[in-house]
Amino acid sequence: MTPAPASTQTFRAIDVIRKKRDGGELSGGEIESIVNAYTRGDIPDYQVSAWLMAVVLRGMTRAETAALTDVMLRSGEMLDLSSLPAKKVDKHSTGGVGDKTSLVLAPLAAAAGVTVPMISGRGLGHTGGTLDKLEAIPGFNVNLSVAQFRRVLDTCGCAMIGQTSEIAPADRKLYALRDVTGTVESPYLICASIMSKKLAEGIDALVLDVKTGSGAFMKSEKDAAFLAELMVETGERMGKQVVALITDMDQPLGSKIGNALEVIEVVEVLRGGGPEDLRQLCLELAGWMLHLGGVSATVAEGKKQSEKLIASGQALDRFRQMVELQGGDPRVIDDPRGLPQAQHTMIFSSPNHGYLSSLQCEQAGTACVILGGGRERKEDSIDPAVGIVLHKKVGDAVSVGEAMATIHYNDETRATRARQLLEQSYLIADSPPREKRPLIHRVIGRSGEKN
Ligand code: URA
Repeated sequence: MTPAPASTQTFRAIDVIRKKRDGGELSGGEIESIVNAYTRGDIPDYQVSAWLMAVVLRGMTRAETAALTDVMLRSGEMLDLSSLPAKKVDKHSTGGVGDKTSLVLAPLAAAAGVTVPMISGRGLGHTGGTLDKLEAIPGFNVNLSVAQFRRVLDTCGCAMIGQTSEIAPADRKLYALRDVTGTVESPYLICASIMSKKLAEGIDALVLDVKTGSGAFMKSEKDAAFLAELMVETGERMGKQVVALITDMDQPLGSKIGNALEVIEVVEVLRGGGPEDLRQLCLELAGWMLHLGGVSATVAEGKKQSEKLIASGQALDRFRQMVELQGGDPRVIDDPRGLPQAQHTMIFSSPNHGYLSSLQCEQAGTACVILGGGRERKEDSIDPAVGIVLHKKVGDAVSVGEAMATIHYNDETRATRARQLLEQSYLIADSPPREKRPLIHRVIGRSGEKN
């Protein structure tokens, strides 16, 4: 643990709150004082809540955002992975529905020679979490010590764990407070929260997947781009190579939503199949990871290399190795019947002829949470077996009675509620949507780079 030095100036929280409330720019020292005092338990929740709300309403300058990220990063341990020779590159998504790309990307990039030290999170709201998906694999341990994490990285080039108590403790405390005070939705606070944890991983480069659309926290492309720019700039200020892809989350990614179901889809992609949108996004993100990791001269080359690693089975082998090293049962890769399976399935059929014109993504994610695939309260446990398999995606033709989705469930009452919500999330029109939303909206950062 490397605790940040205590501020040497006399500090009164009320002065910092008032200054931000009145639209002033806080100094690095003021930000350091309020964050460190809160992390130590020296000032109460109500003062920090007031300060956070002032930040939400008044915003922050780039210098303030960088100072906040820095003090949160230094509130805990920073991993030193410099003894590992390859470049360390991670990928982080701002959260979505059916987004299982991390499970594909870590072994894929590792098979290419990049080291991927991935510290991930759990499901948040309607979005799924990487740790919950990994834990659907019987025995998989996401709670490795730093020494074990390093050992797995050293052996297979990738490891995937949860945030340890030593990493960015200021974020854990602030995030819990933000969650209950309506202060999550600030790009400055989101940026500092995400970047402090990612920079603590000892990485050289970071690929950010910033989601936009009905299933994203940032619904509009403009807000997503603003957050992406902020994160790229903050990471670059800290000496890291950072690129952000603004990607579509207006409908779920891939066909499967739910923890064990998503593991099955990960294996499909690593075998060279899987749904086209998921496969394409994985290749694009992998292309950037390989490029920033110094193993491919361009992103396009990185994509080609990734395709070859999938076709040769090397990416899947690396996944198998990581699962085994982290205590998971690798047999589920070849026989998914070893994964948790729901007792019942229910088909949801189309009530009309036409074309699927939209699939409200947040509602689809919430339907999975209702089934038990996510948490309605922080202390809830997850049912890894439940979820939804989508048979139609936006733009597809549908006829009356045709199966739109299959609900995998263990509890009848939950299944009925989830089905009602899912029904509301589909919109069927007479003609196909005029415009197809792009999978990758734009790339921010590394400007001028050939890809
Ligand atoms: N994810 C995080 O880690 N932090 C935020 O503030 C929002 C999403």
